[in-house]
Amino acid sequence: MVHDIWNQFLTIAREEFGSRVVETWFRAIVLVRWDILHKEVYLKAPNAFISDWIQKNYGTVLQVHLGRLVTIDKPRIIFVNNEQAIVAQLKESELSSSIALPMDVTPAKKTSMKVPYKKSLLHSHDYSFDTFVVGPHNSLAYAAAHAITEKPGKLYNPLFIYGGSGLGKTHLLNAISNKMQQNNGDVVILYQPADRFVNEFINAIRFDKIHRFQEKYQRVDVLLIDDVQFISNKEQTQEAFFHIFNSLYELRKQIVFSSDTFPQNIKGIAERLRSRLAWGLVTDIYTPGIETRIAILKKKALLNNEILEDDVAQRIAEYTISNIRELEGALIRVMAYASLTQKKITVELVEDVLQHHQSKQKPSITLDRILREVSKQSGYTPDAIQSKVRNKDIALARHITMFIMKSMTDKSLRDIGEFFTGRDHSTVMHAIEKIESIIKNKSEVSILVRRIQDALQRFE
Ligand code: ADP
Ligand code: MG
Repeated sequence: MVHDIWNQFLTIAREEFGSRVVETWFRAIVLVRWDILHKEVYLKAPNAFISDWIQKNYGTVLQVHLGRLVTIDKPRIIFVNNEQAIVAQLKESELSSSIALPMDVTPAKKTSMKVPYKKSLLHSHDYSFDTFVVGPHNSLAYAAAHAITEKPGKLYNPLFIYGGSGLGKTHLLNAISNKMQQNNGDVVILYQPADRFVNEFINAIRFDKIHRFQEKYQRVDVLLIDDVQFISNKEQTQEAFFHIFNSLYELRKQIVFSSDTFPQNIKGIAERLRSRLAWGLVTDIYTPGIETRIAILKKKALLNNEILEDDVAQRIAEYTISNIRELEGALIRVMAYASLTQKKITVELVEDVLQHHQSKQKPSITLDRILREVSKQSGYTPDAIQSKVRNKDIALARHITMFIMKSMTDKSLRDIGEFFTGRDHSTVMHAIEKIESIIKNKSEVSILVRRIQDALQRFE
């Protein structure tokens, strides 16, 4: 029974924060008991570091979701600590958690959750603009997101943000939500992951509550739909959503979508809905380059009162390339390990902790592979791309290649320049800036870049 409750909580936590957070933080926790009279829930953590971290970062989530599961409204969460064997455990968990865990949250399980989620609980409060690091890979999405908090419904409606997993879409959507709530406490904001929307709709039909469902969505001023690709192949849900979209849009309510791909590329959705997704501004988030990854690591560390040395941040950033969620996981592991063993965070320690990571890492993305991929997708030979031919289209392919090299590898501008026979770093810099500005305006180029990056990641 106790075990079931904790497992249910893990399911929710996984849904909200992803498997890595669950594996790193919650897996080692034991639900000891709860006290309805005094409104207390007792948990056992392996040590104070973990319990502090959880209290600080996930305290509200525990209160809300665990509270709901044990039927105590806003319980006090009390940790009982147990300083043992965690070092070994951390190293062990590295092995299992760096393998992508299957989502074990099936729709069936989710709908069986009896108590509905409360709206405000879905907001994760550390997902704010303040904690969001802006780099070339996300600057446009960030600017758009920030702008709509000032003028909701007026500038970009809908705003559509797409990008690969773990690159900050959910963070941005929640940042919008939090900021708008701060700006105006009266505005009704609804953040809803699309899969949850689907379940909600199915339940509304099943329990004959469709009217209430519609009413709920008519009342919102700002609707944020995360991972909208999950409504693909759900015709009835799409139909319902289409009407919600239209009525909100007509009332100039702000709508924001995130997705793992751009609208034209979402399969199994009705054409009229697809076209609406792209009515406003479509913008994307790329894989961050090493400088941004380092900046993110430093910021995350600082948020936890830790100052990372440059070489340390660099080393962690080198281990994790394509996904910020994993980057964060690596940092957490390093910090936890350092704290538990009471060692200073050094490059050696990082290597010690993350070595499993590397051994399991997929073959890395090399300059050669990028060149080959661009060649494949642009139709120009690698030789032509590497050459100094000034033909406009070839030059574009060349600049795209440089741009992707900078964003997906740890090579310096100089390394990249040398790869292109004798170009210096300023040429490369110039090319990158050019592509950055082009993709802000030209969606074909942006789509091409995206496609190449996706292909590189897929075959990693
Ligand atoms: P997505 O929704 O695109 O899969 P998330 O928004 O869940 O990705 O981001 C994964 C993790 O990476 C989150 O913990 C988030 O806070 C962090 N993250 C992503 N982008 C940034 C950023 N630019 N600055 C700080 N943290 C970030
Ligand atoms: Mg997300």
